[in-house]
Amino acid sequence: MKKNTIIVLITVLLISTACQQNVVLHNKDFLAMSTVVTYQVYSDENLDVDTIIEESIIGTEKLMSRTDQSSEIYNINKLAGTGEKVYISDDVKKIIEVSLYHQKISGNAFRITIYPLVILWDIMNPDAPIPTQSKIEEAITLSRVSNLEYNENEGYVKMQDKGSGIDLGGIAKGYAVDKAVEKLKENDVKHGFISIGGGIQTFGGKPDGAPWVLGLQNPTTPQRGHFATYKLMEGAVVTSGDYQRRKIEGGVVYHHIIDPLSGYPVQEGLASVTIFADHSTDADAYSTAVYVMGFEKGLEFINEKTDVEAMFVFHDKSVYLTAGLKDKVEIVDTEFYLNENR
Ligand code: AMP
Ligand code: MG
Repeated sequence: MKKNTIIVLITVLLISTACQQNVVLHNKDFLAMSTVVTYQVYSDENLDVDTIIEESIIGTEKLMSRTDQSSEIYNINKLAGTGEKVYISDDVKKIIEVSLYHQKISGNAFRITIYPLVILWDIMNPDAPIPTQSKIEEAITLSRVSNLEYNENEGYVKMQDKGSGIDLGGIAKGYAVDKAVEKLKENDVKHGFISIGGGIQTFGGKPDGAPWVLGLQNPTTPQRGHFATYKLMEGAVVTSGDYQRRKIEGGVVYHHIIDPLSGYPVQEGLASVTIFADHSTDADAYSTAVYVMGFEKGLEFINEKTDVEAMFVFHDKSVYLTAGLKDKVEIVDTEFYLNENR
């Protein structure tokens, strides 16, 4: 992907340079998982932070990409319908388990068996036609959750029908970042953040004790940068929206988040939903799930959970915050306004 086509969805503002002796700032960005990874990490100058982060993120991508022919997920999808069991690594087991958990609690709104519909729409390919209704119906059937058999004890996955498969695009970036942060913490790193695409994980605040200040991307006019800010010591913030990967045909926006029931990219949905949670794997899965559910169901779903908050942004530029975010998200772009009366 060309760098100039990428929108960094969450920026970190007002970075402090204050640091302790022997603690240096590692600050870099690179391309992985079809987007930009940016990080600022304060650690002992001898620690190879760059390698830890790159290995965690690129390593996750290599296991979980549906397009890399050497990945485990590619292999599972290739062998769909053959009856072959595909034995998977511990990392892939972990992500399959956490994905199946999110699939279940979201009532299958978030579903990793969405693969046939993702392939059919091929949103990032400008030449891909809008699929016919019969093709969509075929792909809906292939995307049913029962197509995936996961045997936890034996550690294998089997996809029942030819053409079915797994797509971890809604959760893998969050998982990769959690993994990188875990490795940094194992190495006694105390302060930093890693952002990838529309998500970020911060930890330990800044070295001077101040929180990280996040800029939350304007989802209706992304080129205007951030429309709101949020201060965070430690936690994950992940956004899903219809502005991230999309094409417009006949005045209709077709984007990358698919409603598994209609088989279409969610139509007339939110501009974006941003999830605030402890870990980015969960925040990533929740953001996709809630975007699919839409405002009313999504709000009910989030309100049932402790320690998870959500910000809903509508195309009319109104914003709804769950209770834990009130007075914490600061809207700085006057085009946007809070509407508590939805
Ligand atoms: P995100 O940006 O985290 O919301 O993830 C969007 C990506 O998740 C898409 O590009 C697809 O790879 C995948 N995806 C699309 N629709 C769904 C869905 N209903 N459930 C799970 N993953 C999905
Ligand atoms: Mg997601």
